[in-house]
Amino acid sequence: MKELEERILSEGRVLPGGVLKVDGFLNHRIDTALLYDMALEIGRLFEGCGVNKVLTVEASGIALASMAGFVMGCPMVFAKKSRTSNIAADVYTAQVASFTHGNVNTLMVSKSWLSAEDRVLIIDDFLATGAALIGLRDICAQAGAEVVGAAISIEKVFQGGGNRLRAEGMRIESLAKIASMTDSSLEFC
Ligand code: 5GP
Repeated sequence: MKELEERILSEGRVLPGGVLKVDGFLNHRIDTALLYDMALEIGRLFEGCGVNKVLTVEASGIALASMAGFVMGCPMVFAKKSRTSNIAADVYTAQVASFTHGNVNTLMVSKSWLSAEDRVLIIDDFLATGAALIGLRDICAQAGAEVVGAAISIEKVFQGGGNRLRAEGMRIESLAKIASMTDSSLEFC
């Protein structure tokens, strides 16, 4: 998506460890007009797929997932993160290693909000190693829900997660796909 690529080029900052900082428009201060355009594009890409629930993980996936849910006319559910083992019994859980923080989180979704009737679109702000997507897919499997696919704002293709999951048959649509990035250069696919 051209508009998103231009913002990444003009405002994104590459941090050590292959992390892209886009907190001026995507995940701290949010450009709501850009986010709305992104949600419309996601709605267009998954039109006719029977999506009845959008699923993301707190915190940075929530803004886009909410807007996409609104555009697609369905509720949005977000997985909560816990670093404790004191977890309520009525939740689906998955362990996920965090790319940016280097710790392991337990993702939790209440059994009340995901079921075998659901056709789920997973949404996240970034796709790197694929760990977050795998965790959310696993939670859907526990609920018996069908994963229609995943929509991602920015996929760092060079970190491999997206293509590994596509090879397993998962449909993944990324609005910007970064082929390579260094301190001084960033190239899209
Ligand atoms: P993965 O699980 O695919 O390795 O990483 C995806 C998760 O890590 C996303 O939920 C996102 O919040 C975070 N993440 C991964 N790479 C980046 C990055 O370059 N910048 C930011 N801001 N977050 C990232």
